[in-house]
Amino acid sequence: MTRAFLPALLALWASVAQGEPAHAAKHVLYLEFARGGARAADSVCRAGEAPPFRCGRAGCERALLAEVKRLYADFDVDVVLTPPAGPHLTVVISSAGGEWCNPDYGPRVRGMAPLNCAGDARWGSTAYVFACRDVQACAVRIAQESAHLVGLEHTADPEDVMYPLETGHKPRFQSHEMATLNPRCGKASQDSHALLSERLGVRGAHTR
Ligand SMILES: [Zn+2]
Repeated sequence: MTRAFLPALLALWASVAQGEPAHAAKHVLYLEFARGGARAADSVCRAGEAPPFRCGRAGCERALLAEVKRLYADFDVDVVLTPPAGPHLTVVISSAGGEWCNPDYGPRVRGMAPLNCAGDARWGSTAYVFACRDVQACAVRIAQESAHLVGLEHTADPEDVMYPLETGHKPRFQSHEMATLNPRCGKASQDSHALLSERLGVRGAHTR
């Protein structure tokens, strides 16, 4: 039994050791406040341009940044407001509804992102957030759409950022197995915190 066990342990060790360099480059999430400019080349929106982001009060861009950073605090990702030179994820944020993106979208569609099931480092993917007005609700939406870009699916836990409906709760990326909703990546459950840790790396893990 011990002999059968050993190769499995060695294989595990090798995969962990080889996994390290994947996180050597820190990931970057760029929050792009729509100014009415041209849509991204890899857009999931059918047509048009994202209508401008209009903040109701001074400083809400910074407040949104702070909230998104808080939600991503455990993970090895920089959240920035200026366009990065290197590979990055983008979330385009608009105050308007999603009708400009797809005429079929009603007010319940609050964002759209390509779901990158493999999490295969296709940096440069772009997600959209619509109807961004309330800082807290919009920050959760931004976190959810950007997490779709690295392969996270919707879950059935209202306390999880990946829960598809807005509850008024203050969700986090929950660290336990939760049922997925209408899964498209072939998994019946997801630990959102663990999967993000795997895809983005853990903050501070490489500074010890
Ligand atoms: Zn979603």
